Amino acid sequence: MKFVTEYRDAELVQATLREIRRTVTRPWVIMEICGGQTHAIVRHGIDLLLPPEIELVHGPGCPVCVTPLEQIDRALAIAARPDVIFTSYGDMLRVPGSDRDLFAVRAAGGDVRVVYSPLDAVKIAQANPDKEVVFFAIGFETTAPANAMSVVQARALGVTNFSVLGSHVCVPPAMHAILGSPHNRVQGFLAAGHVCAIMGYWEYPPIAEQYGVPMAVTGFEPLDVVQGVLETVRLLEAGRAEVVNPYSRAVTFEGNIPAQRVIEQVFEVRDRQWRGIGLIPASGWGLRREFADFDAEQRFDVGGIRPAESPLCIAGQILQGLKKPHDCTAFGTLCTPETPLGATMVSSEGACAAYYKYGRHLDGIALDEITVN
Ligand code: SF4
Repeated sequence: MKFVTEYRDAELVQATLREIRRTVTRPWVIMEICGGQTHAIVRHGIDLLLPPEIELVHGPGCPVCVTPLEQIDRALAIAARPDVIFTSYGDMLRVPGSDRDLFAVRAAGGDVRVVYSPLDAVKIAQANPDKEVVFFAIGFETTAPANAMSVVQARALGVTNFSVLGSHVCVPPAMHAILGSPHNRVQGFLAAGHVCAIMGYWEYPPIAEQYGVPMAVTGFEPLDVVQGVLETVRLLEAGRAEVVNPYSRAVTFEGNIPAQRVIEQVFEVRDRQWRGIGLIPASGWGLRREFADFDAEQRFDVGGIRPAESPLCIAGQILQGLKKPHDCTAFGTLCTPETPLGATMVSSEGACAAYYKYGRHLDGIALDEITVN
């Protein structure tokens, strides 16, 4: 398949790894922002194939992982109402709230449906005028355009029984929070290619310059990832805090302007809570006042929920690059995909789930058993 097969070419990956080995002269910590990239890295063992000077740490770019527990509890409370059809992407159904998940609500009789697009939720609302239809609108810049469009379409169609429970967050404020922390370890970033496909990467050069941290816009295939690492290492070794775009087959500097326009039309910048991290100022989006009648939090009285996290879970530190999943005492024992204690284990993009799925909780992964030609 064009644009996929050649980016899975083992010889090209090995050649790029050799170039990284020739380039690196000292230790560097590089963060991949996106959970999809975390899974690609762990699945293909890229972190184990890199020279020991390079440490990859895993960032907060998994939307399920950073959705606050109180927002999941709000979703559960709304979904349990008999007058509601609650719609969501499938990976939110298994994310545990304080005492249950959306699957449990469905098992107890709640009308919880998986949709592949928020526009499908609008159609469900049209077909069920006697019900309130709520879409769980979580995610980063990638899902925001479709979620915004669902509100625009619902208004255009006169659909008044549709609303969204929103939890939108944005990458650049998270970068500021990580880099501005006194505990920060990150020296370079792999910027998430799909986010940049929507937003461009014009927001990143000022961040790179402010903190002296280079970035490479990076895709999701193995060759994309090692190319992103190579470009970041080249900039680090040269002392250049710049942003480069080796993922130019999908990303332009400006991004997708119509998508950015519909986001701006529907959403305004808000402070947002990030699960495990806390409040990051101006780090997300909420519906503008002129679309407030589509806001599920205003339509349903669920504002006062304040749940507590598992005291064992260190997902917040993992999402800031301070710890790895196997640093958690519960990893692979008390916390598994069947019994998740935190969202980074249950989410299909979570770092803990990636480490578990690809056997990092098992003995026997020895770095010296892996050779690079
Ligand atoms: S292994 Fe489980 S408890 Fe530990 S950090 Fe990951 S999600 Fe949290």
